[in-house]
Amino acid sequence: MNMTLPQLRSVPKIDLHRHLDCSMRWSTVTEIAQTLGMDLEIPPALSRDSFLVTEPMKNLESVLKKFLQTQKVLASEEILTRLAYEACEDAFNDHVMMLELRYAPTFILDGHSQLTFEKIHQSFAKGIALAEKKWGMAVGLIGIIQRNKPLEEAQKVMNFLIDHQNEYVGVDLADNEDGFDPKPFAPLFQIARKAGLRVTIHSGESPSSFAGQWMLDSIEHLGAERIGHGVQSIYHPHVIEVLKAKGIPLEICPLSNWLTQAFPSFEDHPLKNLFEAGVLVTLNSDDPGIFGSTLTDDYDIAQKYHGFGPNEFKKINQIAFQNSFIPASKKKIWENVFT
Ligand SMILES: [Zn+2]
Repeated sequence: MNMTLPQLRSVPKIDLHRHLDCSMRWSTVTEIAQTLGMDLEIPPALSRDSFLVTEPMKNLESVLKKFLQTQKVLASEEILTRLAYEACEDAFNDHVMMLELRYAPTFILDGHSQLTFEKIHQSFAKGIALAEKKWGMAVGLIGIIQRNKPLEEAQKVMNFLIDHQNEYVGVDLADNEDGFDPKPFAPLFQIARKAGLRVTIHSGESPSSFAGQWMLDSIEHLGAERIGHGVQSIYHPHVIEVLKAKGIPLEICPLSNWLTQAFPSFEDHPLKNLFEAGVLVTLNSDDPGIFGSTLTDDYDIAQKYHGFGPNEFKKINQIAFQNSFIPASKKKIWENVFT
């Protein structure tokens, strides 16, 4: 028998793939947008539909464009601190006890030139520290390099991350892969790894005849220890063998994949097939703010359409625990969840 939503919500969870700059609470977004006078700036009018993606869009590109609306809300240090705190609180209320949050400093800076990488980081870190203390959860930060930006920008972000390497657990390369070969970023990621930053790469998310090669390049040239999404591997048996041989987990986000139409329906999603093929699978929420969702919704999809139950949820959380970039000392929190 399927678990009810409250039962699914009460399952202790680990989320390895959640974008902090897309995790804002809808009630807070409307409040901030009004304060900023944004209802005048967004034609036709401030509405839930102008921010949120709750129905499938044409493709990943359409969803990423929608994120530009969200960017406008990230307008001050106070707002960023509040968003980070509330993102953690929402996760905690969904029984997410270990949470890796990622954000792209350039995405926030683009809309708000009065901010700096340092101000953005300190603001988020403040909100996260408050939440960790209050809720007793373990949170790690991942810095995102946007692959669609010039290499000089990527270099600046990477320098910042390395200068603050004790405050980040890892680095990611994100955004639409189409037309943005990962290989030119290889030297940057080599420096990051030497500095002790762990590496996860968004790859194999959207349908493309190059998806297999991009995933292999991300592993071979960028040193990816985890792959964000990687769901296109289902069409590339060789990639599946590499993932298994190297023990590289996939950060799978079923709801997100449906909204970006990486797969036409939940039934068509390869979650179960990848799991049964022996790939290390984890379940994650991606952009719960923009999607108006929680990680429980992804668990519900896994339950309803792929037959996942308590055993599978336990297994994927074990995989997430073992492969989380959060330092071992902070990870102890997870053991306390069960005692
Ligand atoms: Zn993502």
